[in-house]
Amino acid sequence: MARPTSRFVCQGCGEAFLRWEGQCRNCGAWNSLVETVVRDTPRTARARGPVGDGTAPIALSDIGESDLPRLATAIGELDRVLGGGLVPGSLVLVGGEPGIGKSTLLLQAAAGLGRPVLYATGEESAAQVRIRAGRLGLLDAPAGAAIEVLAEHDIGRIVEVGRTMRPALVVVDSIQTATVDELDGAAGSVGQVREATVRLMEFAKGEGIAVVLVGHVTKDGSIAGPKTMEHLVDAVVSIEGERYAALRLVRAAKNRFGSTDEVGVFEMAGSGLLEVSDPARAFLAEHPEPAPGSVVAPTMEGSRPLLVEVQALVAPAGYGTPARKASGIDPNRLGLLVAVLGRRAGIGLGSHDVYANLAGGLTVGEPGLDLPLALALASSLRDRPLAARSVAIGEVGLLGELRSVTGLERRLREAARLGFEVALVPRPGRGGASVEAPGLRVIEVATLREAVEAALTEHPRPHGEALPAMLG
Ligand SMILES: [Zn+2]
Repeated sequence: MARPTSRFVCQGCGEAFLRWEGQCRNCGAWNSLVETVVRDTPRTARARGPVGDGTAPIALSDIGESDLPRLATAIGELDRVLGGGLVPGSLVLVGGEPGIGKSTLLLQAAAGLGRPVLYATGEESAAQVRIRAGRLGLLDAPAGAAIEVLAEHDIGRIVEVGRTMRPALVVVDSIQTATVDELDGAAGSVGQVREATVRLMEFAKGEGIAVVLVGHVTKDGSIAGPKTMEHLVDAVVSIEGERYAALRLVRAAKNRFGSTDEVGVFEMAGSGLLEVSDPARAFLAEHPEPAPGSVVAPTMEGSRPLLVEVQALVAPAGYGTPARKASGIDPNRLGLLVAVLGRRAGIGLGSHDVYANLAGGLTVGEPGLDLPLALALASSLRDRPLAARSVAIGEVGLLGELRSVTGLERRLREAARLGFEVALVPRPGRGGASVEAPGLRVIEVATLREAVEAALTEHPRPHGEALPAMLG
């Protein structure tokens, strides 16, 4: 039996307490506890797994992959990120900043499914969803007729319609506008978002229907609402990019049914999000001439090589602490590289403001970005560009030593395919073999100092063969 009880839920971290306190004992936030009426959720519904509720054990070898059917959305890049399509009975959270294209992508996916879809919208009216579908050219397609739009924010009503209609997919746009009747809190509050997510999870698992939630992210990149929401769902898919730029990167931050390594690349056009035909080059900015402070890096996102442009700007600082600003790059890494450049490579940036970002609004966390970032900083300070059609990749250690990256050959082959001619890479350690790529001159360097010299020195050193300069 459902038994309503009152709890004080922290709006910061989602922790629940029995009585009100001025400060949350879990996260330390002040005045963050809000009284919320919670219903004890039946344990049985929670415990039931997504792949079946049988209790008899099955030999691991007897479980076929076909036990996990997939609903393909007909959007190859999205299916790739999901691990082959949506899994019936799964709960997927699609996050991104407002205006990034979440509703657009999901409406396209819903139409591509070619199966009945319930599209519950609390953000827009049914008429607005129709206008969007018309703009995306989804109204004439026969598949479009299978989408039922429900302008509703009450989760109880959405679940009720879902149980009657039995669609293949339920989209809830968005979880921040969803409300649960029994709760006092406003839509978007921690208590509401968490309870709405729990109810939708019970619905998804109980009915074997895939449910996709739209979630807005806050400025710091986390999904607005309790952290617990990300633990409840089976997969978290994020859409990244700059709102006013065309490219979008779709990535799985969590996926119980597939890898979290794969990324999908889209371009926002008038007719919706289009798959990019050559993702490897999508994030490369086009420059007629090489520019100081710009270095192209062959990065890897999952099994997919992506060439990205690292941009740095170094300028003499005014009074006070010099600025260290990074976008799309770990700011701690930037600070560390500034220190290593100063101590190990003779590139002193202590009295300079330093700005660094990745072209195209991309975010890359891999350590191989160290060397291109360090070279971009050195290039900007010296006001000298790297050689045209060159790339650099490698991790930088605290002693200024360079370490290789995984999948180097894959990366270099992709760079060569896209017309790059020179690559600056870490010298392989003991037991490591040099990597070659057709059409690419590979320059191996052991330290950051050597890398800076090779990349930015105009005239080759006397022993040019040992350390060939990239310019000359
Ligand atoms: Zn808290």
